[in-house]
Amino acid sequence: MANLILILGDQLTPVISALDDADKSSDRIVMAEVHDEASYTNHHKKKLVLLFSAMRHFAQRLQDDGWDLHYQRYHPDNKHQSLEAVIADQVHAFKPERIVTTECGEWRLHAQISEWHKTLGVPVEIRPDSRFVASKQEFADWAEGRKQLRMEFFYREMRRKTGLLMDADGKPEGGEWNYDADNRRKWTGKPAAPAPFRIEPDATTRAVIELVDEHLSDHFGTTEDFHFAVTAEDAEQALAHFIDFALPCFGDFQDAMSDDEDWLFHSILSPYINCGLLDPLAVCEEAAQAWYRGQAPINAVEGFIRQIIGWREFVRGIYWLHMPDYARENRLGNTRELPWFYWTGDTRMRCMHKAIDATRRNAYAHHIQRLMVTGNFALLAGVKPEDICDWYLAVYADAYDWVELPNVLGMVMHADGGYLGSKPYAASGKYIQRMSDHCSNCHYKVNKSTEDDACPFNALYWHFIDRHRDDFAKNPRMGMMYRNWDKQKPERKEALLQRAEQLLINIEQL
Ligand code: FAD
Ligand code: SF4
Repeated sequence: MANLILILGDQLTPVISALDDADKSSDRIVMAEVHDEASYTNHHKKKLVLLFSAMRHFAQRLQDDGWDLHYQRYHPDNKHQSLEAVIADQVHAFKPERIVTTECGEWRLHAQISEWHKTLGVPVEIRPDSRFVASKQEFADWAEGRKQLRMEFFYREMRRKTGLLMDADGKPEGGEWNYDADNRRKWTGKPAAPAPFRIEPDATTRAVIELVDEHLSDHFGTTEDFHFAVTAEDAEQALAHFIDFALPCFGDFQDAMSDDEDWLFHSILSPYINCGLLDPLAVCEEAAQAWYRGQAPINAVEGFIRQIIGWREFVRGIYWLHMPDYARENRLGNTRELPWFYWTGDTRMRCMHKAIDATRRNAYAHHIQRLMVTGNFALLAGVKPEDICDWYLAVYADAYDWVELPNVLGMVMHADGGYLGSKPYAASGKYIQRMSDHCSNCHYKVNKSTEDDACPFNALYWHFIDRHRDDFAKNPRMGMMYRNWDKQKPERKEALLQRAEQLLINIEQL
């Protein structure tokens, strides 16, 4: 039987299920850089370079390994501009008995591929993606009958399933499941943050950079200073660099932000894990071993592993359980368009400027910048979920719909009515001041709330609390906020609400 095997740009591993039982002597692999996938959103230029270059390297590896492989390189004038067109052409030329692929990470494409057996007239076998700890069905079984889903309980299941950081009696190592309470230190410059891992672009990557600069120059961000790994071997080195130099402090400063340091102690591994260059479980195993060796403390290692087998798996489960309806959720009724400064970084709010500017340069910002700065602002300002979701999908090298959407729509925007998170992550400027040194360099004053130079987050926070009383007053985790709001004098409340209204009217000038 001759199969046509489709490998997508985020499936760059020889253990991808589409290759299970594949036969080099009869099957053909297809990989394609197509216009439709490159431009359905304003993907960051570095993301495009990363994926095209990693695809080219992976294709070369397969060809060196003896596979018959058809590869389409990107050109705006290519005859075939969609995956379906490329596959249709190959079906015509190769006449396979069936098409084999691994399930993709996006509802939009999944819906298209699910119809190919009709449109292309060939059976299509879509195999589960075995790179995740929990299958879609396993997650659905766990979620069944639960009114609200909580990551912590799912995470414990994943710890038991994988055995990661579990002792011989089936108890969590160190005695606790979760050490998050230890992971909230502000970073004041010591210990020094390690330099990020860098790989200098090789000839393949340089050719892709030229291509992106020439043909996709209107996309967000820059290709300058591209230093991501684009092969599995180099991504392994990036992992080793993280374990040796950043993991020991990852936990302590996980929530910290800095005016001078883009990366702090984060792993910067999500672009590789998400496209297949690194295996998530192998990454967790390396981190666990660092704890067993005494190289990193438990709060760092547990915190890191929780992000991967906890949050990462949890958001993926929610995505597939509730798509496509999930993408349309807007339970807080937001209507505001995304302020333009999200694309330029041109704002006097120092924390926002820093997060957006790093995003523009690096196609990366760490979790707390995404959640508590750009995300928090969008939540407080009432930005339409679909606008802010589009932004997050475009600007990060690790962004794919299955992981971006629940994080933004659920975790940040609370647009799913609290299904993913029990309370919104709304915060005033005080939080940002506590976790960073941005405020001391800001045009606005974090200790002021109603004056012209007052931190915008402060009044917007109370405006958010006030306008969503019906949504949150009965939430036990929000009770204290409402008691604090109700305790304030009427004239103070009025001044805060007026200041917030002014900020919202003049939002583009902030
Ligand atoms: P580290 O801080 O070193 O964390 C380790 C790993 O844990 C990451 O590599 C990632 O694989 C995983 N991880 C951590 N948090 C999450 C999470 N909430 N969901 C899923 N995986 C997680 N992550 C993406 O991979 N793609 C996205 O498009 C994406 N969009 C996000 C949007 C918002 C608004 C928020 C709040 C978070 C988003 N995240 C996304 C999660 C998280 O911010 C990134 O995974 C992380 O910043 C990647 O950097 P890192 O590899 O240095 O992570
Ligand atoms: Fe951000 Fe407000 Fe601090 Fe400025 S004062 S950096 S706007 S939190």
